[in-house]
Amino acid sequence: MSEAKPFTGACLCGAVRFEAQGAPLGVNHCHCAQCQRASGAAMLTWATWPRASVRMLGTAAAEFESSPGVWRSFCARCGSTLFWRREGRRPEEIDIAAGTIDQADALTPSEHIFVKSRRRWMPLCDGLPAYPEYRPKA
Ligand SMILES: [Zn+2]
Ligand SMILES: [Zn+2]
Repeated sequence: MSEAKPFTGACLCGAVRFEAQGAPLGVNHCHCAQCQRASGAAMLTWATWPRASVRMLGTAAAEFESSPGVWRSFCARCGSTLFWRREGRRPEEIDIAAGTIDQADALTPSEHIFVKSRRRWMPLCDGLPAYPEYRPKA
């Protein structure tokens, strides 16, 4: 996908926009309690890119430190969940909320994480691996 157009996306109101070059490093469905709170939904699908591959456009997103060193970004105007990043552990990567990506159908989720917090009425029926927390390191 090196010659492909960048992925593009925006929040609900369009104030915050972004471009992501190249294919994502990974895509996961996160069922953690914080993603449920932050999104108001049963899970959040995240696509991870190298931070250097993502260009921020439009209004800067607001940030909230949801755990020490973990920053969740959202539109200060419309409230859309946008980004997740962690200083220290993964300082060179950024997760983008898949629902804000224009070409989200082109993403290929590979796993469910934090299913220990999965809502009972949120079925896992896509055959993907599901882990209680993060995927164990190989
Ligand atoms: Zn917005
Ligand atoms: Zn999560």
